[in-house]
This record gives sequence, structure tokens and C-alpha cells, in this order.
Amino acid sequence: MNHSIHKEKITIIGAGLVGSLLAVLLAKRGYRIALYERRPDMRRTDISAGRSINLALANRGIYALQQAELMEKISPILTEMKGRMVHDIEGQLNFQSYGQKPEEVIYSVSRGELNKICLNAAEETGLVDIFFNQRCESVDFKNNQITFVDENTATQTLQQFSQIIGTDGSASAVREAIHQQTSQQHEIIPLGHSYKELRIPPGRNGEYLIEKNALHIWPRGGFMLIALPNADASFTVTLFMSNEGNISFENINSAESVKAFFDEYFTDILPLIPQLTKDFFSNPTGKLATVKCSPWHFKDKALLLGDAAHAIVPFHGQGMNCGFEDAWELIKSIEQHAGDFAKIFAQVNQNRKINGDAIADMAIENYITMRDSVRDKKFLLKNALAFELEKRFSGYFCPRYSMVMFHRLPYSEAKSRGIIQEAILNQLTESIQSIKQVDYALAEQLIKEKLSPVSLNP
Ligand code: FAD
Repeated sequence: MNHSIHKEKITIIGAGLVGSLLAVLLAKRGYRIALYERRPDMRRTDISAGRSINLALANRGIYALQQAELMEKISPILTEMKGRMVHDIEGQLNFQSYGQKPEEVIYSVSRGELNKICLNAAEETGLVDIFFNQRCESVDFKNNQITFVDENTATQTLQQFSQIIGTDGSASAVREAIHQQTSQQHEIIPLGHSYKELRIPPGRNGEYLIEKNALHIWPRGGFMLIALPNADASFTVTLFMSNEGNISFENINSAESVKAFFDEYFTDILPLIPQLTKDFFSNPTGKLATVKCSPWHFKDKALLLGDAAHAIVPFHGQGMNCGFEDAWELIKSIEQHAGDFAKIFAQVNQNRKINGDAIADMAIENYITMRDSVRDKKFLLKNALAFELEKRFSGYFCPRYSMVMFHRLPYSEAKSRGIIQEAILNQLTESIQSIKQVDYALAEQLIKEKLSPVSLNP
């Protein structure tokens, strides 16, 4: 599609995953972009790409990347994950498929490589100027000026702006500036748990040492370990655990206690992490929290997207996917309200805030699912039944995980339908042990009574 070049320039703060994709999407619609990033250029300097080393990319994120015509470049760096591989305490494996169709998979992708592809694509449009080492310090909405501080020289500069989009992550400076104007506050809700990244290197012949096409989980009740495959045959392993208490980052604090802990709870993986204690003490412990805020915008001047608007805990693998969906929703609003940024920003705020809140809540629930429920017989029975009901009543029933990961209906709808579906699954499995005992006449009656037809990809 050919778009004429717009006169006004949009300023984006934060060239992480969401900011760099948004720059591509806007430039492809003829907007000139000034993209400011606090850190050095990750394509030229060896820096960590941010939080997790790899991430799960799912349908919502892929859809936005397709709109930016980037999937051809991204597909080669994806590793398919077809389901969870659950490792019990004895080392027995139990594979649980995520979906029931071949395309119902998620993908592991390197955060750094994905970010670099988006940065290159932004520059290739010829309409995006990227300024690295520039930290947004404050925003003066009266005079339409942003103060930047150069991270190398500490020099301050002032830049004029027309519209700012804050994609500057969970500690957003743009959010702070908006909330100073609106006297609203943001809410940071700590999870009380943190994470630590470790690594399973490739085998001697460059092979994957555990199943390549799965997201591995070692669920242990109050804590868990997960592993996602990387393209170089290594795995990034992440330990999620409480900050305080008996089994916690506070207590497991010496080489001996780390080894003893892994020996007791993660015996099968221990020999595969040769650098366990070195990595445990040299890698940072990342804190986890949910950030909710309102409003996401200020008049026609500023809008927040991605983690700046809604940082969520990582257990549904949706933070980036949701941020990419935000970016696409902004483009749709721009097309609807041609250049009227007061309407555009208000509409994005109205449409996306409820969805950001919904995925934040579902992500917290999914922590319990991953660290505990996946080893529960009732959970497995309900999952099997959910697949069966999806087959039999496809226009009505879709498992909640599938609604979130494989489809694009609003998160808020996935959440509310999920609550009704959970009640139906509970009722149907209340007094049975096997899927063969399900009363499908009752299932049909409950589904038709309680669920309206579903539009999975509106
Ligand atoms: P960020 O990635 O945080 O990028 C913000 C950018 O802004 C950064 O480059 C930063 O340097 C820059 N910046 C910050 N402040 C300023 C400033 N003042 N001035 C200029 N620049 C600034 N999501 C998924 O979808 N799937 C997953 O599997 C997944 N796994 C995760 C695992 C873990 C352990 C964690 C912590 C998160 C995970 N997420 C996952 C969430 C995902 O990482 C975030 O949702 C995503 O990074 C948000 O992108 P963003 O661009 O909004 O913010």
C-alpha cells in the first residue's frame, strides 16, 4: 500500500520490542518518526537485550508482525513449541499439547534478534531516525518539549514534539509525565516472586539435550523451573521462586544451598547446567510485578503502549504479544480517525485498557497453572474435555489457553468466556474420573444456555 508522507513527526520513546515494531508500522503508513532509546545500539554494542533472553511469540504478536511485513525475516529464527513437557520430581516426562491443530503452537524467539530485525526494518523505511543513549527525563506538555539526557556525556537537550508515544517499558518516564498532568496514579503490584536465568548449553555435537519443540516445566507447587529452546540448541532456563520464606531467593544463597536445592527438586536437569552456581550468582535476580495505570493518554499529545501501559507477569507469555497487539490497534484507530490524535488516543485507551487489565489477571492465574495444576489429574481431565468440547461445539467453546494464544478475540472476552467455561468444565467433571464418562447431552445444554457464539478472530 502506498501512503503519502505526513507533515507531522511522531516521537516514540523506547526502542525495545514494542517501540521498534510501532516505528515500522507507522512509517509504513507515511509517518516520519523520531525514536529515542536510552541504551546503546544493540546491533553495534554487545549488551543484553533486556529482561528474558528468549520469549514465546504467539498468534497476536505474529499478526502484528505480519502487518509490518516482517514475518519473512522472523520465521527463520523461530523454534516451534508444540506443548508443555512436564518433568515430575522423579524425572518422568509428560507431554501436554497446547492445541489440537498443527498450527496451534507457540514459538521461542531470541529477544535480541527480534529487536534487531525491527530496528533494521524501521531504518529501512527511510522515515525513522533512531537516537541511542538518549534517556527521556521529563516532558513539558505546555511547551511541547522533551528533556533528554545523553547517557554517555550527561548532556541535556530539549526536543520539540507534536505527539509522543511512550513505549519505554515498565518504569516509563512518559507515564510519569502523563500522570503528573492528570493527577492519576499508576499501581505497581509486586508478585512477591522473582526469577533467575540459567542455561543448558548444546550437546557435544551441537544437539539439543532435551526435547527441542516444547516448553519444559518442572512444577514444584510454590516454585518452578521452565526452559525454552534457543536456535543454537541451548535452552534458557528460568527459576521462578518466592523472594522470602523457606524456599526462596533469600534463603537459597550459597553455592552449597543452590546445589542441594537443585539436587532435591530438579535432579534430572542438574547435570545439564554445568555453570549452575556461577550463573546463579552472576546473573541478576529479576523482580516481577504487575503495573496497571489509567489513563494511558494525555489529550492529543501522548499515549502509552506496551509495558509502559501494562507490565504483566510473564506466565502467559503475553507481555510482548499484547504490546504488539496494542501497536496494531493504534494503527487501526489512526486509519479510522485520520490525523485526529485526540480521538485516536482516547479510542486506544478505551479499547485497550480493559484488555490490558484482563491479560494481567490471566497471567497471574497462569502462574498457579504452570507451577502446580499441570501435575493435577483433574486439570488434565478438564483440559482433555475442553479439547473435546471445542471439537463438538466449535462455534461456542474454545479452551481459554487457545483463545489467548492462538486467536485474537479481545483478552477481556477470553477472560469472561473462560470463567463461564471453567464453571461448565467443573460441573461436567465433578463426579467422573475419565473423559469416557462425560454427559455430552448435559454439556450441549450448558454450553448453548451459557455461552453465546464466539468470533475468535474479529
Ligand atoms: P521493553 O521491552 O521494556 O522496552 C522498553 C525500552 O525503552 C527499552 O529498550 C528501554 O531501554 C527503553 N527505555 C526505558 N526508559 C527509557 C527512557 N526514559 N528514555 C528512553 N528509553 C527508555 N512476553 C511475551 O509476549 N512472551 C514471553 O514469553 C515473555 N516472557 C517474559 C519472561 C520474562 C522473565 C519477563 C520479565 C518478561 C517476559 N515477557 C514475555 C514480557 C516482555 O518482555 C515485555 O512485555 C516486553 O519486553 C515489552 O516490550 P516494551 O517494548 O513495551 O518494553
